[in-house]
Amino acid sequence: MKHIAVVGGGIVGLAIAYKLSLMKEVKVSVFEKESSQGQHQSGNNSGVLHCGLSYTPNSLKAKLAVNGIKQMVDFCVQNYVKHDICGQIVVAADDEEVKTLDNIAARGKANGLQGLKYLSRYDLKQREPHVKAKKALLVPEEGIVDYKGVMQKMVDKIKESGNEIFFNSKVQNIEETDKELILKVNDKEYKFDLLISCTGLYADMVYQNLTGNKRPLRIVPFRGEYMKIKSEYKDLVNHLIYPVPNPKYPFLGVHFTRMINESRELGPNAVFALKREAYTNKDISLSEFYDSISYKGFHKFVLKNFKFALGEFASSMSNRSFLKKAKRLVPDIELNMIERGVAGVRAQAMNTSGKLIMDFKIEKVNKQIHVLNAPSPAATSSLAIADYVIENYVG
Ligand SMILES: Cc1cc2nc3c(=O)[nH]c(=O)nc-3n(C[C@H](O)[C@H](O)[C@H](O)COP(=O)(O)OP(=O)(O)OC[C@H]3O[C@@H](n4cnc5c(N)ncnc54)[C@H](O)[C@@H]3O)c2cc1C
Repeated sequence: MKHIAVVGGGIVGLAIAYKLSLMKEVKVSVFEKESSQGQHQSGNNSGVLHCGLSYTPNSLKAKLAVNGIKQMVDFCVQNYVKHDICGQIVVAADDEEVKTLDNIAARGKANGLQGLKYLSRYDLKQREPHVKAKKALLVPEEGIVDYKGVMQKMVDKIKESGNEIFFNSKVQNIEETDKELILKVNDKEYKFDLLISCTGLYADMVYQNLTGNKRPLRIVPFRGEYMKIKSEYKDLVNHLIYPVPNPKYPFLGVHFTRMINESRELGPNAVFALKREAYTNKDISLSEFYDSISYKGFHKFVLKNFKFALGEFASSMSNRSFLKKAKRLVPDIELNMIERGVAGVRAQAMNTSGKLIMDFKIEKVNKQIHVLNAPSPAATSSLAIADYVIENYVG
């Protein structure tokens, strides 16, 4: 019997623990520092099932999104979790974006997506009467889901199979011998053969604390703030409406989302956060802020992306600036139709050159496996990430 510790009860840690719990020869224990699962990225995202449209063909992201959405839909069907493959429209607002949209459609085809098609003016009006587009691409395989419902089912299944989840259990250090890993959490000692860290916003720090090695990258927190469309105006959009993503960034741009509870959200922007779990612009941690700004890569990122960073900051400070981004897709939207909504914080890995690392990144050091970068669409892909980690690293 192999005893495996999973650190982090977000959707990636839970998906890995769930898949391990299906293996007869494995016992798994999950350690989560909060009082329940999914309190960070996994419980504060757009709730979208991404099918693999814009990711670089053959990247881990592309492969695991395409496989992951199928597994996630099957999981939802089998466990009665709400979801809807409602389709997405990607809107090019000018000639430059039309070119990028054509490239993205080609990527989608290379990734094996079915049914991609450009909508005629008539078809667009039928589907989304308020959207204005120079060119609009329909992505029929994209959808929405209740990720909190998914995580609750994963927790139930892990426990039903006789495995354990410890909440309020922060993992801070570990002793590694030739034979085993010894973990001390809340004054109790546990012994494991292997540990898998899926700690999102703290993935680099947990890596450093547990392996003793220097961090190979830095997690920089980017808050994503949402606006809510007031319920009386929710018919302004029917499905998912996205701008053409800028291929330079892993962020998809302010978009309209029909949530699984029928509300309509607008966002998220991507604002540098002054703390890793900073859900408002008043949340600050001096040590975490210093950790980001003292990083060589961060200086290079800011120098190269000053205009982008300023634009995102402006949308955090002013509703009008936020609205400007939305009006490119739906010109009829006005300030009186929206109100400030929730926020999530993305764990985005950056390297010393100031590049945002686009692909998923996993590293094994002795008996420890660290998921170091699992940005969007890691929620969609979580069950496929679990297979990948188990097949390639657990053995
Ligand atoms: C605003 C936003 C919108 C997004 N939209 C989408 C979307 O529509 N579709 C999609 O597929 N993806 C989306 N994503 C990305 C997706 O949510 C994340 O990629 C995914 O949730 C990552 O899951 P995770 O388990 O790695 O991280 P998390 O959910 O952050 O989980 C990490 C967990 O580790 C715990 N932890 C940290 N340190 C320790 C420690 N020392 N000991 C114990 N526990 C610890 C944390 O408390 C946390 O619960 C979005 C993300 C954001 C922020």
